Amino acid sequence: MFAAIYELTAEGVFETYDYAPVSILGLDGFHRFMNISVEGKDDLDDLRELGLLNHMKISTTTYGTVTAYRLSDKGMKMYMEVPTKMRTPIDKLVHCPRHKTKLMEIVCIGFEKYFFHCPSCDYEREILIFEIEDVSYTSTPRFIRLPYRKRR
Ligand SMILES: [Zn+2]
Repeated sequence: MFAAIYELTAEGVFETYDYAPVSILGLDGFHRFMNISVEGKDDLDDLRELGLLNHMKISTTTYGTVTAYRLSDKGMKMYMEVPTKMRTPIDKLVHCPRHKTKLMEIVCIGFEKYFFHCPSCDYEREILIFEIEDVSYTSTPRFIRLPYRKRR
């Protein structure tokens, strides 16, 4: 889910979202930095609370858990009411460019790469969620004076 949110944010579809590298514990037990959208995560929780999204925790063979999401009946009804103009840019990114109506699946390989994959023609597009961008910033060291406590 975070891979899809990242892709739609990076492609400018979710205009008000931003993302930043966050250390995430992978199913293989290693921490990795991934580009996570806090806004996307928050909205996901809101959709769940409103009953528009169902979720299910799934245990993996490596004793981890992953969360699967699916639109609820109420969520599907609401989605159908979203104007086509707003749905088109999303549909373009999640459907196979060769089979226009074929929804792609998201495949994770070796816990290190995510792809959109079309099961019909094997078309693949990598989702660069692990590509941490260089952000140029300057920093100034600051020394914080902590309150001094005498030992008795
Ligand atoms: Zn295809």
